[in-house]
Amino acid sequence: MRYTHDILKKDLIYPCTFGDLQKYVQMVPRADVRGIQRIHITNRSLWHFQDGAYRSGGGAIITLSYAVNNELVRIYPTKYYPIDDVISDWAEFGGKYFRKNGRSCVKWQHRKAVKRYIQFVLYHEIGHHVYRRENPIGYYRKQTRKKYKEEEDYCDNYSRQLLSKIAGLRKK
Ligand SMILES: [Zn+2]
Repeated sequence: MRYTHDILKKDLIYPCTFGDLQKYVQMVPRADVRGIQRIHITNRSLWHFQDGAYRSGGGAIITLSYAVNNELVRIYPTKYYPIDDVISDWAEFGGKYFRKNGRSCVKWQHRKAVKRYIQFVLYHEIGHHVYRRENPIGYYRKQTRKKYKEEEDYCDNYSRQLLSKIAGLRKK
C-alpha cells in the first residue's frame, strides 16, 4: 500500500502522519485491506465535502480530506452545511462544531482526539472496500437511496466495531 499527500497551504497541518495511518491500517484484519492500493491525504473538497472517500476499481484508493490549523480547527468551504449525523460524529470524538465568517468549522481539543476521528473515517472507508467486495453486482447502476443508506450504516458499524475491538485489546 502506498501513502501520498497533497502539499498544504501555509498554517495548515495534517493531524495524522503516514506513520500514524500505517499503524491504523496494521490494526485492520489483513484480508479487509487487500486490494487497497493507496491512501491519499488532501485538503481539497471531496464529493459532498465529506472527510473521506473511497474509489474502487483496479487498485482501490482511499482519500482523506483533513487538515487543521495550528489551533486544531478544521475549516470547511463556504458552501458546506453539515447534516446532524455528521455533527454528532464529530462530537462523539470531541470535535465542537461552530460557524465563523460564513464557514463551518470544527474545533478539536487535542491532537489525539482529531487523530482518533480520522482513524474512524479511515475505517469507515475501509468498510466500503469490504462491503463492495461482498456486494459487487451492478453496484453503480443499481445504487438507490435505500442501498446507499444501507452501505453507509454498514461502514459506520464496521468502523465502530473495529475501534472498540482495538480499545479492548489495549486494556488487556
Ligand atoms: Zn461512506
